[in-house]
Amino acid sequence: MDDRLRVKAEELQPQIVDFTQRLIQTRSISGEEGAIARLIQDEMRKLGYDEVLTDPAGNVIGILRGRGQGETIMFNCHMDHVSEGNLADWEYEPYGGTVAGGWVHGRGASDVKGAIASQVYGVYLLKALGIELQGDVILTFVIDEEPGDMWGMKHLCQDWLNRPVSLVVLGEATSLDIYLGHRGRLEMELIGRGKMSHSSAPWLGVNAVTKMAPVITKLDELSRSLPEDDVLGKSTLSVTHISCQPGWGSTVPDICRVWVDRRYLPSESTEEVVNQFKQAVAECQAADPDINVECRIRQLAHTSYTGISETEQLLKQPYLVPQDNPYVQKVVKALQDIGQNPSFGVWDFGTDGSYTAHVLGIPTIGYAPGEEEYAHRPTDRVRIDFLIKAAVGNAAICRAVAGCYPKEV
Ligand SMILES: [Zn+2]
Repeated sequence: MDDRLRVKAEELQPQIVDFTQRLIQTRSISGEEGAIARLIQDEMRKLGYDEVLTDPAGNVIGILRGRGQGETIMFNCHMDHVSEGNLADWEYEPYGGTVAGGWVHGRGASDVKGAIASQVYGVYLLKALGIELQGDVILTFVIDEEPGDMWGMKHLCQDWLNRPVSLVVLGEATSLDIYLGHRGRLEMELIGRGKMSHSSAPWLGVNAVTKMAPVITKLDELSRSLPEDDVLGKSTLSVTHISCQPGWGSTVPDICRVWVDRRYLPSESTEEVVNQFKQAVAECQAADPDINVECRIRQLAHTSYTGISETEQLLKQPYLVPQDNPYVQKVVKALQDIGQNPSFGVWDFGTDGSYTAHVLGIPTIGYAPGEEEYAHRPTDRVRIDFLIKAAVGNAAICRAVAGCYPKEV
């Protein structure tokens, strides 16, 4: 049985690689996922998935139905990716999907188009081999993950996912290991207000930029005293953006806007983290009453390719699934049974898993062929042997969670 999965996946390698290439060749920057959504739906229809549909936001869903009375497992990848950046930095054409040296190269290969192919074909392996399951397998491909506020995933779960799910498997890069969570992330926006004047007479104004300087220094001090966790790593704070208005050379600016990326641990509450910013500002204001800075979690405006517009807070809670969670243990055993030997890990970056794990309370893990070191870089690539192994692993995970019908053969 186990060997049948591997043999079938190797037989399907040309199709799996070809699908990965077509996914990479279909540019899908956040908000522009229409073409890739059609491509994924067409592929699942061609492979005979029982149901293929989209929700109003444009998230794609494919279902392989079980015989009933089993548990539901959900796979998930995002369909969008970050920009290619500077073309001169790329060895291979970013949207070429070039196959070379045992890899498929191009933007999104590691994050997460290789994983899309290994999920679509991994679940298909069961169908191709006539292996029936008790529970359903749901594949979900969401819009707008990269902006960082889980907007696509929120819509999928609120508008469509109206059923209990036992385990979510994310396709974010894990190098075939099992990842169990990540730090939380919020983006803070500080808006400093001053008074505009001609820069030849600065005494008539209040410079919003220079009044922001002590606040930034205070935050930098705070960043050096943040807690650390053995598993999830260090709590961090990074100033990522500064801008001012009006930004004219002859004018003292009256607005200064600063964005701060804050990664935090389960031991720190979101409220506590937000209050740290307010406290830092209050201390600065106590020393200089001309400092007038408002702090809030930054909001991001989205419009989906289907035309839905909404604003969402840039906030993701931390989560960590325990290693001894029974579903995690089932996955480990299923992968060991097919000769894989995954370690446990966590991501440095945040994922949509924060929605399924933290908001919905569903055990959420990562298992995917991509390698974190290639994500968002001009060296973006995915190993072909990992694509095939991940497809076999995904099929094995389905059997372990949704159960074989009749019971284990
Ligand atoms: Zn990703």
